[in-house]
Amino acid sequence: MKRRDFMALSVAALTLPRAGFAASTMTLPDAKLTMLSDGNLTLPGDFVLAGLDATEAAGIRQKFNLDPDSYTPPCNLTLYQDGTRNVLFDVGAGPDFMPSAGKLEAALAAAGLSHDDITHVVFTHAHPDHLWGLLDDFDDPKFANAEYLMGRAEFDYWMDPNTVHTIGDARASFAVGAARRLEVIADQLQFFADGEEPLAGITARLTPGHTPGHMAFILGGKVLVTGDAISNDHLAFLRPDAASPSDQDPDLAAATRVSLLDQITADQLVIAGFHLPGGLGHATRDGDSYTYIEG
Ligand SMILES: [Zn+2]
Repeated sequence: MKRRDFMALSVAALTLPRAGFAASTMTLPDAKLTMLSDGNLTLPGDFVLAGLDATEAAGIRQKFNLDPDSYTPPCNLTLYQDGTRNVLFDVGAGPDFMPSAGKLEAALAAAGLSHDDITHVVFTHAHPDHLWGLLDDFDDPKFANAEYLMGRAEFDYWMDPNTVHTIGDARASFAVGAARRLEVIADQLQFFADGEEPLAGITARLTPGHTPGHMAFILGGKVLVTGDAISNDHLAFLRPDAASPSDQDPDLAAATRVSLLDQITADQLVIAGFHLPGGLGHATRDGDSYTYIEG
């Protein structure tokens, strides 16, 4: 029996949950967007705010009703369907990162899809919650019929054997995990650079700082897939210029955020946010500060 047949059998034997996924959707002139939940992360309460002085951090916690002990942002994958292509941005965390994440299979099933229906996978960056859902239990790519696309700079960074030694202890496991997975698809990956159109209607925008080669994407001139260039609905909007240890290069990430939010409000882009409540929203501007509005 071929492995694929075995997988098909075992999936068919499962009763996949179909309820409980209130996916947000929107319609573009030529495509449909669906936000698929991969669950949520479970992180320390100061994950985003640790760079601020205590008074400002306490003010933000109070304003946004944040738990000081635990931070549990949602993980929302963007699915872009134009009738012929089912394009998935990032692949979620898979089973090996944290128990609260890696729920994509159920979300796909709720949308009437399986991994095999995905025609293209486009990566924002190679962090665990965005990449580690790539492989199955046999270490084969889960999306058997998909083309894989990634920014060249992001790929080169994680495949560089020096990265594990230079990235710092806190992220060393990210480097090992990324290289192991990217190695599997290295020969089939298609690369793109800032400003290029990796797929028709999808423009890449280099948004470095969270990771060195992080990419955001503009869909049909209307929607910005942010990845983690804007990774929370509180500090990132209220004080986009504030450095956060949740970014690998906090100052560069802050500069990227300031520029991105300026573009989002100037061009009135819808935000498809990986870690933003509801997945889809928009921003309003008040001077140098912004507000995220879900929906
Ligand atoms: Zn993330």
